[in-house]
Amino acid sequence: MTAVSESDLGVVLGELDEWLEANWDPELSLREWWQRLGEAGWAQPHWPREWYGRGLSRADGLAVSLAIQGFGAVPGPVGFATGMAGPTLLVHGTDDQKRRHLPGMVTGSDGFCQLFSEPNAGSDLAGLQTTAVLDGDDWVVNGQKVWTSGGQVANKAMLVARTNVDVPKHAGISYFLIRMDQPGVEVRPLREMTGRNFFNEVFITDARIPVDDLIGGEGKGWTVANTTLAFERALSGGRGATTPARPGPIAGDLDVRAGDFVVAPGDGPSVAARSSGWPRLAVLAREVGRNGDPPVRQRLVRLYTLERILALTGRRARALQESGRELPGLPNLAKMAQNHAVRLGRDLTFDLLQAAGMLHGYDPQAAAASEAVAGIADLADLMETALFAQGPPIYGGSDQIQRNIVGERVLGLPREPSTDRRVPFRDLPKN
Ligand SMILES: Cc1cc2nc3c(=O)[nH]c(=O)nc-3n(C[C@H](O)[C@H](O)[C@H](O)COP(=O)(O)OP(=O)(O)OC[C@H]3O[C@@H](n4cnc5c(N)ncnc54)[C@H](O)[C@@H]3O)c2cc1C
Repeated sequence: MTAVSESDLGVVLGELDEWLEANWDPELSLREWWQRLGEAGWAQPHWPREWYGRGLSRADGLAVSLAIQGFGAVPGPVGFATGMAGPTLLVHGTDDQKRRHLPGMVTGSDGFCQLFSEPNAGSDLAGLQTTAVLDGDDWVVNGQKVWTSGGQVANKAMLVARTNVDVPKHAGISYFLIRMDQPGVEVRPLREMTGRNFFNEVFITDARIPVDDLIGGEGKGWTVANTTLAFERALSGGRGATTPARPGPIAGDLDVRAGDFVVAPGDGPSVAARSSGWPRLAVLAREVGRNGDPPVRQRLVRLYTLERILALTGRRARALQESGRELPGLPNLAKMAQNHAVRLGRDLTFDLLQAAGMLHGYDPQAAAASEAVAGIADLADLMETALFAQGPPIYGGSDQIQRNIVGERVLGLPREPSTDRRVPFRDLPKN
């Protein structure tokens, strides 16, 4: 998809403005609003016109979502569905699959999660042991997944499972869309050190998937999953406007008044950007009387510099993508640099908070009490972001795995020694 010219983008934004004037109504429920937005192609404007989008480039799509926010309306749903499952389906899905699944994504009526990692298959995802066996018109799935973000609020999931144990591990994997709201799927929440329940364990026992929901063909799951992971990495880069409104029928906000989710432009795209980015930490340094401290000033400037470089790298990556070129390894390097910034922010946060950095409220009452004691109004937000900083360097492929990819696929270094690439999966030693 190539970017439209600046004047053409102006025309698109003019058309959007007219459409918003005629259609935005804060009194609509979120369900009604997202339905209007999605059906008009404005929820995911960088998706193709024939598939609920407007055929714009990703950068122009981001400009549209920012313009929707700037108008004072709510942009389209954000999450696993529109960020990962939908884009994967656009690449590998059949027309029938796109017709059945994409509308629920653009209108927010479905909430998705990602059933990839298992207790013994994280970095080595191809070692997964969940099985799917064909039984009439259904695949029957058994196994266990873990670290399933948002699993407790998803009604559908992207699933990778083993459909053939007689071929080497990468070749025997298939990719499915599975319903989470069925008796064979049990979701057990895991509590993290932030106090939140972001992840879950998912136990799957004789769950069923209609044959029509196998994506990309039997045994092609490794390729399809890598497409999803590439979209996941791209999410770490530039984002458009985002919204606190949650999609999906389980814990989504679909029946709440749409106007309750209007976010003023400049209110920051994410908790991470608000709480551990340089602007917030510069203010914190002043609040705790350390803004004249030379080492603190140096670390703030280092963080500022890295964040600027990241923003410019993101623009460069998008420009390359839009002109049909790519710089091998750039998404991997961008993810690692982003993780570096997250860690710098975390360490500076704890250093500035000093003893207050040991106060973390695990419920709203305790959070309010900690904030009052420390005299820092958003202590809970700062602490949650700092404690969550361990996450980004692990998900979507850990930093070490990104380095392996760059070493082997970009620099041409010898591959890691492995003895399991040609052996049928059934003959491999397993935990
Ligand atoms: C915040 C968060 C959200 C997540 N959300 C989801 C989700 O929604 N769905 C999902 O399916 N998964 C999710 N995950 C899981 C994530 O994908 C895995 O944690 C990740 O792939 C690492 O796998 P692992 O935890 O099994 O660690 P392991 O693979 O056991 O790795 C342990 C350590 O060994 C290192 N290592 C492993 N192999 C190599 C190697 N070949 N070379 C060098 N070093 C190596 C790793 O870098 C790591 O430091 C999430 C994880 C986090 C932290």
